[in-house]
Amino acid sequence: MGKITVTLQDGGSIEVPESTTAGEFIGELLSNKQRKNCLAIETDGQIIDLVTPLTSDITFTPVLKDTEKGLEVLRHSTAHVMAQAVQDVFGKEVKVAIGPSIQDGFYYDFYRDEPFTPDDFEKIEARMTEIVRSGASFSRSIMSSGEAIARFEAEGEKYKVELIEDLGQEAVSIYSHSDFSDLCRGPHLPDTSYIKAFKLLRVAGAYWRGDEKRGVLQRIYGTAFFDQKSLKKYLNALEEAKKRDHRKLGRELGLFTIQDQIGPGLILWQPKGAQLRRLIEDYWKDEHYKNDYELLYTPHIARQDLWKTSGHLDFYSENMYAAMNIDDVQYQLKPMNCPFHVGVYNSEKRSYRDFPIRWCELGTVYRYERAGALHGLMRVRGFTQDDAHIFCRPDQLNDEIYNILELNLHILENFGFSEFDVYLSTRPEKYVGSTENWQQATAALEKALERRGLDFSIDPGEGVFYGPKIDIKIKDQLGRSWQCSTIQVDFNLPERFDISYTGSDNTEHQPIMIHRALMGSLERFIGVLIEHYAGAFPIWLAPVQARIMNITDAQGDYAEQVYRRLREAGLRVEKDVRNEKLNYKIREAQVAKIPYMLIAGDKEKEEETITVRLRNGKNLPAMPVTEFAEKVLAECRLGRGI
Ligand SMILES: [Zn+2]
Ligand SMILES: [Zn+2]
Repeated sequence: MGKITVTLQDGGSIEVPESTTAGEFIGELLSNKQRKNCLAIETDGQIIDLVTPLTSDITFTPVLKDTEKGLEVLRHSTAHVMAQAVQDVFGKEVKVAIGPSIQDGFYYDFYRDEPFTPDDFEKIEARMTEIVRSGASFSRSIMSSGEAIARFEAEGEKYKVELIEDLGQEAVSIYSHSDFSDLCRGPHLPDTSYIKAFKLLRVAGAYWRGDEKRGVLQRIYGTAFFDQKSLKKYLNALEEAKKRDHRKLGRELGLFTIQDQIGPGLILWQPKGAQLRRLIEDYWKDEHYKNDYELLYTPHIARQDLWKTSGHLDFYSENMYAAMNIDDVQYQLKPMNCPFHVGVYNSEKRSYRDFPIRWCELGTVYRYERAGALHGLMRVRGFTQDDAHIFCRPDQLNDEIYNILELNLHILENFGFSEFDVYLSTRPEKYVGSTENWQQATAALEKALERRGLDFSIDPGEGVFYGPKIDIKIKDQLGRSWQCSTIQVDFNLPERFDISYTGSDNTEHQPIMIHRALMGSLERFIGVLIEHYAGAFPIWLAPVQARIMNITDAQGDYAEQVYRRLREAGLRVEKDVRNEKLNYKIREAQVAKIPYMLIAGDKEKEEETITVRLRNGKNLPAMPVTEFAEKVLAECRLGRGI
């Protein structure tokens, strides 16, 4: 048998016989402590566990506990343990399908006639605990596909049989622990005792292989960690996220509703949500105006020919809704605003002196999303993009990108986001435009990021086919990342529409077009805002800033009068003059997360003041009505960054 060389990245290397497993040699290359924490090894982005025989020279890094990759190995192994526990508890009539690790946990799909209930989780978890405690080793074996099919067929595991048949390989790997075996590529933990903390979370329907015609399986989701403390922390965060769920808060605060009668993925903004949206739109427009943008409005449909010219029918048709016939001409709903802005560009002859042209629009677009993918405000079928297109000369590209970044971050920071993950995506394999243009544009994006002092990662080859792009993700209060802004240079659309300007040399040139969405879509951004603030919006964004309430009927008229005065001063106020106890009114206002509760009693009425109570329960001393109005207006100016 031959020898192979295994090299520890930043460490020594040794020669071992071919087919040695990492478990057999890492002791010689790693320190004792690392050896104890090593779950697998990584080479060329591939994770290989400690029981897989190696057939060629490798250079590796250890995959340690408490790393993302370590957690993946742990979680997928826990999925196997869960599958065994389910069959141990409910019998082999339950069939197993697939069980990968996913972000934050794992799942396993089962076929069973009866539904799993949360009560079943306890039984499954109890059996899992026994398996974990037994410290059963995971072992790996190679079996010919024919042999594996015969084996799984005998066990009635038809999903496994189908998977092996589809793989079409000569042989497959099987992982076993205790008396459970599963078709699997790995990697796995050395043994089950590494699983120190786990929890089953929920069960949901899932189509076999994502195919609606293939019948529904039951998907049990769970998570696992290397210690109880991390699990607790995660479960607490999950609880907090549930409380902040924008669908729940949207209902409770009367922000938006989605109804079957209207259609899935279509948002109805209720008055308070519409107010919130208006505030965001007004702020957005003001900021763009200050930064030399001009506002456009464009229609929702256009002739199908436009989408042919733009390339959407070729490249984007699966996201577009069917055509409609108007006067024997085919029209289609817009999935994007870009071609319309090109239309505005073409409405006049352009010269090099006109640049840069900065046009923005809150443009409502319609895109097909699978029903199963729809999610509250986060994924919808009709949404409003906060879109902008910049047309400029090549010599202006650097400054324009920088200005966009500057405006983006300024606005996002004003909404309360301070942490960003920034990505620069470069030329993919399939692209349009000259390599020279790509280089120039990519360099411009990179320079602007550096000039703004932003840390960023490069996503090689992840640019759109028509140009490189910058993506900005924002981090919310719970540390979750949300895709938000995108800035894309486009060489394609100017070419397709053959747009031009007259240069200083008196000949025609093609301008550069930049697409930019700052918030992404208003729907999604508002969804993120709701969860970020848990519905308790800062004063400048609060749909209702104050609610006035009387103590007894004796101050009913006075409360009405205060309400009127504050409305006229431009405050967003409500009144509660019902014949109810004050405490009851206060509680309701707190549930509605209204920043200020204004209390009118006899003393206030006499002195023409109001007592101000904050949503955190604190009271401010009584103050004249005008003083309160001034205070709120000043806070709004501050909030809007004026
Ligand atoms: Zn596996
Ligand atoms: Zn665009």
